[in-house]
Amino acid sequence: MKRYLLILLCALCLLAGCTGKPQSQTKELFAMDTVMHLTVYSQEDGVLKQGEEEIRRLETLFSVTDENSDIARLNQSKGQWVTVSDETARLLTLAKEYAKQTEGRFDPTVYPAVMAWGFTTDQKRVPSQEELDGLPTLVDYNQIEIKGTQVRLPKEMGVDLGAIAKGYAADRVKALYEAAGVSGILSLGGNVLTIGHKPDGTPFTVAIQDPQNAAATLGVLTLKGGQAAVTSGDYQRYFEQNGVRYHHILDPKTAAPAKSDLTSVTIIADSAAKADAYATALFVAGKEQALSLAKTLNVQAVLVTKDGQIHCTDDVQFTPS
Ligand code: ADP
Ligand code: MG
Repeated sequence: MKRYLLILLCALCLLAGCTGKPQSQTKELFAMDTVMHLTVYSQEDGVLKQGEEEIRRLETLFSVTDENSDIARLNQSKGQWVTVSDETARLLTLAKEYAKQTEGRFDPTVYPAVMAWGFTTDQKRVPSQEELDGLPTLVDYNQIEIKGTQVRLPKEMGVDLGAIAKGYAADRVKALYEAAGVSGILSLGGNVLTIGHKPDGTPFTVAIQDPQNAAATLGVLTLKGGQAAVTSGDYQRYFEQNGVRYHHILDPKTAAPAKSDLTSVTIIADSAAKADAYATALFVAGKEQALSLAKTLNVQAVLVTKDGQIHCTDDVQFTPS
């Protein structure tokens, strides 16, 4: 089971006996192949359930393993036009935009490569070099055609929204909670998103996990109300063969696990979908390019290199442990 990249620290500030301030309630659920926590400052029944239902609804649209999902139908379409929901068309459009902005380091058409490595199955495997050589030409976000709710992909190609869907789901739950006038903090796997402010006025904080030691943290990030902090790393989802570790963030240029000098990338932004896609992209980019990309893309980043150094862009409120 996936452990957390970011650990919620202060969400459960239960000011017992502090009348007038709503106490928090948290729901834990497993969806989109990860553990999620929804925390809200509200005593209203049903708010947490509403959030959970929204996530499950989105999972039925975007899952690659549920054969009835919009994305699975697109992946089985053999080059034909497929009708998808408005929301899937919008997320595909957004994913194309992020792919363009990151010069294809985040690429939602990475699915053939994900499949070749068996990452969505119980049978992980190392593809032959010959197989790998044929894959990069099948990964190209420019080939996704979208006309309203009609989508087409060339034969042999496929879409995987695994690097953006959790962030997008967090944004949708946030919108729902904002409409209900509820504040709180969401953690969808490594995707943290704050909603409004804590009732006592103190900022939300999240700890960044030490990639070398699951029980330790590297420090604490202070977030503004509404900000997302999303981490991508090579230390949580991987398999080993003949003593070599193969992680799940692929370089679209090689169709193989990205040979990055980074082990973890956390992006702080105003949207979790954006932060999710960019975290994956900056991991692929490696430290030097990640720092300049963060500037161009106008987001904050905390990068952890394989040799344990931490690099923050300007304005990050990070307190090392
Ligand atoms: P996680 O899902 O563990 O939070 P990411 O957000 O980085 O991590 O997403 C990684 C997932 O996205 C992979 O499991 C795979 O399905 C897909 N993926 C892998 N490499 C890329 C890439 N370069 N661009 C887009 N999606 C990717
Ligand atoms: Mg991501």
